[in-house]
Amino acid sequence: MKIASVYIHIPFCLRKCNYCDFVSYPLADCSTVRGHYPQLVLQELELYREELDFSPLRTIYFGGGTPSILEAAEISQLLAAFPAATEITLEANPETLDEAKLAAFYQAGINRLSLGVQSFKPQLLTSMGRGHTSEQSQAMVAAARRAGFANINIDLIYGLPGQNLQDWQEDIADALALGTEHISLYSLTVEEGTPWWQMERDGLICPADQDLSADMLEYAIDALAAAGYRHYEISNFARPGFESQHNLAYWRRENYLGLGVAAAGCMLNYRYYNHRTLAAYQTMLEKGQRPVFDEEHLTIDQVMSEAIFLGLRLAEGINFKSFAEQYGVNPLKRYRKQIRKMAEAGLLEVNEKGMYLSRRGVLLGNEVFMQFV
Ligand code: SF4
Repeated sequence: MKIASVYIHIPFCLRKCNYCDFVSYPLADCSTVRGHYPQLVLQELELYREELDFSPLRTIYFGGGTPSILEAAEISQLLAAFPAATEITLEANPETLDEAKLAAFYQAGINRLSLGVQSFKPQLLTSMGRGHTSEQSQAMVAAARRAGFANINIDLIYGLPGQNLQDWQEDIADALALGTEHISLYSLTVEEGTPWWQMERDGLICPADQDLSADMLEYAIDALAAAGYRHYEISNFARPGFESQHNLAYWRRENYLGLGVAAAGCMLNYRYYNHRTLAAYQTMLEKGQRPVFDEEHLTIDQVMSEAIFLGLRLAEGINFKSFAEQYGVNPLKRYRKQIRKMAEAGLLEVNEKGMYLSRRGVLLGNEVFMQFV
């Protein structure tokens, strides 16, 4: 099976942020496994090796957690197990970086850095439980440039408790001042089980309401477009040519291999989800078994639904001809009712070539996606 993209999950963080629902463990709680984690990932890779064809390999993505907790030598060790890839991304937390580490990551082969900035406002960083300052974020972007990185993303979050529109406008201005090639904007969702979930229930915090969040996204869309960024996916903006190739593979529903604790992989209609605890992940590998916790074989209807709602996340939307060639089904006929309903609601733009979200549809994407599930 051809695999052009690989995701590697690094499930360690210095501490947990108050809003975090990702599978990540404070380093202090798992220092033993941390030491041989890269080895475990390599063992897992070997369990797939015979079935997969990595030529050509387009992207490798180290996500987390905080992948920048790894040493550059460990990144080199992991990358050596694959053929050369075009785009190799490392998610990084500013407080785990310094000038030398950035240079070493670049030398190891990382060519795209994704920095978790989240906000430039000290009070918001503190309330999120982030351990870095805005000055550190700015300094690490500058240091990454000196190290050689020519493709940098920064993540920001909006809709935070206590964040008003002016805070957000200033965050966008600070982000633009950094001149990174890519900016990702995430709307806060307070997930069950996080400290903020409990605090919201106790009435101690109040995240932004839907209207304010929509205003924030609308403001950002205009400001980033004016600065030359293309809004190529609901949450993502890039200078031309710097779209995330790895994430495009997800949205275009291409095959990808997921390795590591809690990683997921997708190959045609097969999807698997790895164990979410370090202990279960390690135990399975010790038995020589793939650390898969759950798997599903999608029906062709499920595959097509996914292709529609993932594709609609992209500005390019769904091309009817390509869809029909790939699945042997005319989407205009198969989804006639849903398409008409969403077009009449002003959420979907439809022409003879294809369909894509309208500006209002971008703000209310979930309403559209639900129609195709
Ligand atoms: S750094 Fe990221 S993954 Fe780690 S706890 Fe914070 S939000 Fe979660």
